[in-house]
Amino acid sequence: MPELPEVQTVVSDLNKKIKGDTIVSFWSEWLKAIKPASSADEFSKKIQNRKIIGARRIGKNIFIDLSGGKTLYIHLKMTGHLLIKSKSYKLKAKSYFEDRVNQYIRHKFFLKSGRTLEFSDLRKFGKIVLDDTEKINNLKEIKALGIDALDPKFTFKKFQEILEKKPKVKIGIILMDQNLISGIGNIYRSEILFDAKVLPERTVKSISKKDLEKIYKATIKILKKAVKMRGTSDSDYRDTSGAPGNFQKVLMVYNKEKQKCKKCGTIIKRETLGQRSVFICKKCQK
Ligand SMILES: [Zn+2]
Repeated sequence: MPELPEVQTVVSDLNKKIKGDTIVSFWSEWLKAIKPASSADEFSKKIQNRKIIGARRIGKNIFIDLSGGKTLYIHLKMTGHLLIKSKSYKLKAKSYFEDRVNQYIRHKFFLKSGRTLEFSDLRKFGKIVLDDTEKINNLKEIKALGIDALDPKFTFKKFQEILEKKPKVKIGIILMDQNLISGIGNIYRSEILFDAKVLPERTVKSISKKDLEKIYKATIKILKKAVKMRGTSDSDYRDTSGAPGNFQKVLMVYNKEKQKCKKCGTIIKRETLGQRSVFICKKCQK
């Protein structure tokens, strides 16, 4: 699933490529992902002639603000990709795997410039909601989100305040709980805790203040570096041009089960925590 760095890459691309453009129509082959759902034509009528004011993000959630006080709220979920294609767009696919991002287009927004914004979604878990900006911002699931991990207001003090309420919860669970801190999934949880040298199964109260500070600093450092490197394409994540990110080249533990730790040579282990895999080095992490 795309996490904060991947979603930030998409949002930056949207602002760079289609901000100021106007939606002329919409097509969908999977109406279950659309809200309000009636027909693609109906949905199209509600958004046509609206100008794209800009894109923003909270955690893994994307918001595209439109003229007339409307917002498109998009969640990519497990396998969603947003692709921006010009009329002459051709994916420079090197393999079937690379080309795969283009094969599951469920929805298309046609823009005045001739470009299209396309939503590819292999597993069809993604969603698109259109409503008044105010209503989107006040959706229960949006209001319930914890502070975004790269929000300037997410300070070490704020991190401590969040943790104080959850002394018995494992740190590996806390980092992935979108209602406490939003944006981190299982790729970055593994990388952050490896960098901070803390085991994910440690409960908050068992971790020293010094180590909590290391976790906080690792969170900011790793997420910022991953944003700079346009995300992790360990699986099928692609940016809006269909190109992979680069952070997979510098991963230390994620998906490296049975490989040697780059720091100490110990074999990396995969464990399950919160129903998701977590990768650890039992020597580097305590
Ligand atoms: Zn190690």
